[in-house]
Amino acid sequence: MIVVLKPNVGEEKREQLMDWLKSMDLAVHVSEGAYQTVLGLIGDTSKVDMDLIASLDIVESVKRVSETFKCCNRKFHPEDTVVRVGDARIGGGHFCLIAGPCSVESEEQIVAVARAVKAAGADLLRGGAFKPRTSPYDFQGLHADGIRLLKLAREATGLPIVTEIMSASDLPLFEDVDVLQVGARNMQNFDLLKELGQTGKPILLKRGLANTLKELLMSAEYIMASGNENVILCERGIRTYSDYLRNTLDLSAVPMLHELSHLPVIVDPSHATGIARMVPPMALAATACGCDGLIIEVHNDPSHALCDGAQSLRPEEYAALVGRIRAVREAATC
Ligand code: PEP
Ligand code: MN
Repeated sequence: MIVVLKPNVGEEKREQLMDWLKSMDLAVHVSEGAYQTVLGLIGDTSKVDMDLIASLDIVESVKRVSETFKCCNRKFHPEDTVVRVGDARIGGGHFCLIAGPCSVESEEQIVAVARAVKAAGADLLRGGAFKPRTSPYDFQGLHADGIRLLKLAREATGLPIVTEIMSASDLPLFEDVDVLQVGARNMQNFDLLKELGQTGKPILLKRGLANTLKELLMSAEYIMASGNENVILCERGIRTYSDYLRNTLDLSAVPMLHELSHLPVIVDPSHATGIARMVPPMALAATACGCDGLIIEVHNDPSHALCDGAQSLRPEEYAALVGRIRAVREAATC
C-alpha cells in the first residue's frame, strides 16, 4: 500500500502518522521527492482501513500496490534513483560508461586497459577477479590478487572499480571495491543477495540467463529489503533460440524496467552477443532506448585474452564507439 502525503506536511505530523502505521506491524519506506513524500507500507495491509488513512488531513491519496516487489517499485518511489560511485552518477539522466576486460590477468594488462578506457571517456573500470566459468578447467580468475591489481589500476587512473562477487564468504576481500557485481548465474543466490543488502555498497545486479523481469526485480528486492538501496539493474541477454549469437539482448527490458522500477538500468552488449563486431550496434540501440549506462568488455590484446576475447573490443574500437554513443544520446534526448 502507498500513502501519498500532501505537499509541505510538517515533520511532527508525518512522524505521528508513521508511528501509528508502525504500531500496526507495518514497515514504512519513505520516499522524499522534490514535490511529494510517498510512504510505502510493507507487511500485511489486509486489515488496514484505507478510508481512515485517506481521511487524514495530511494525506493526499492511498493506493494498494498489487506487485510483490515494493522497495524497487516506482509506485513506492516515483523519482529515479541515482546511484553514486565516486564522482560518477548512474540513473536519473546520468549516463555511466563501464569498461574493462572480462578478467584481470596481470598488472600490465589491467593498468593498460584502465588507462585506455579512461582516455576514451569511461567512468568506471570493470574486471573479473572471481570468474564464474562453465568449465571448472577454464581460467577461474586471480581472486584476491586480481582485486589487488584492480586497486592498482584505480590508483593509476582514478577510475572506481566494478568486480564480481560469487560468494558471501569472500566479502572481506571486497571491502575496498566500489561496485560489487552479481553475475547472471548468481542472480537468485538469495543468501548472497541478503548479505549484499547489508553492505550499503552499490550493487550491479545482472539478469539471469533465463530469468523474467519480475524475477530480476524480486532479486533487487532481496538486496533492498536488507537495507541497501544502491542497486543498478543490468540486462545482459537471455537464452532464447539464438544460434549465431551468445544470447538474445532483450532491449525491451529497458523501458519496461524503467516503468516498473525507479532503479537505474544498464545494458551489457558484450555478454549479450558474444561477438565484438556486434557490440557497437547493440550498444547504440541500447543507448537509443534509454538505458542509464553500458558495461562493455575491452581488452588490449583480445586474441590472447584468458576469457571472452571474442567479444572484447580493442581500446581504439571502444574509443570510437564512445563518440557514437554520445551522438546517439544527444539525438535521443533532443
Ligand atoms: C561478466 O560480466 O564477466 C560476466 C560473467 O557476466 P554475466 O554474469 O552476465 O555472464
Ligand atoms: Mn566476460
